[in-house]
Amino acid sequence: MTSYLWNPPAVPSLPVRGRTERLPVNRIFCVGRNYLAHALEMGGSPVDKATERAFYFTKSPQALVGSGSTVPYPPETQNYHHEMELVLVIGRPGFRVEAADAHELIYGYAAGLDMTRRDLQSAARQKGLPWDTAKDVEQGAVCSEVAPMPGVVLERGEIALEVNGQIRQKSDIGKLIWNIREIIADLSGYYHLQPGDLIYTGTPDGVGPVVAGDHLTGRVEGVGEIRLTIGPAQ
Ligand code: MN
Repeated sequence: MTSYLWNPPAVPSLPVRGRTERLPVNRIFCVGRNYLAHALEMGGSPVDKATERAFYFTKSPQALVGSGSTVPYPPETQNYHHEMELVLVIGRPGFRVEAADAHELIYGYAAGLDMTRRDLQSAARQKGLPWDTAKDVEQGAVCSEVAPMPGVVLERGEIALEVNGQIRQKSDIGKLIWNIREIIADLSGYYHLQPGDLIYTGTPDGVGPVVAGDHLTGRVEGVGEIRLTIGPAQ
């Protein structure tokens, strides 16, 4: 047995629908700019898939927090945003996977919130600086239970988010610029994908700020629901 100086941190994990075992989470990848209407609301231009490739950022697995949690409003931001997303859960390893074979890596899906310090992201974009403090926020990778759907490629389904009962985001995963097969094929060119890797697939339009006391309720049709409450700043 390996001995450590202190107890290692707990393995980040998610509940799985219909199972008592939890799913151990490995890495958290996020796709940037994957719905046209969101790319435009962020001040970008339409994405030309013929000449542009998807881009990614990561969040620490330690930033993972489960649905139903109350999280404090984070420090160092005055503009903390919700991004409602379909989360793809990898269940088998793959490297340089062809799009036609991508379904073999899929364990299932979840509903997620890619919480974002938008003010820091905007400043970083302008200066060409990294996004880490904007995106890798403590308790800022919110994820529902995992719905096991091995080998299933989701191609459509409503994705929606309400804040305090008011609709803020509503779209369809059929509008993903890079679809599930394309994301797996492309990302597996950079990384040896592993079981437990989560891929947040991007947010539709309608992102906006949250404040302390807000209750967020999101849903991905055929996948599940997610809830989050924003608590006071620490
Ligand atoms: Mn996002």
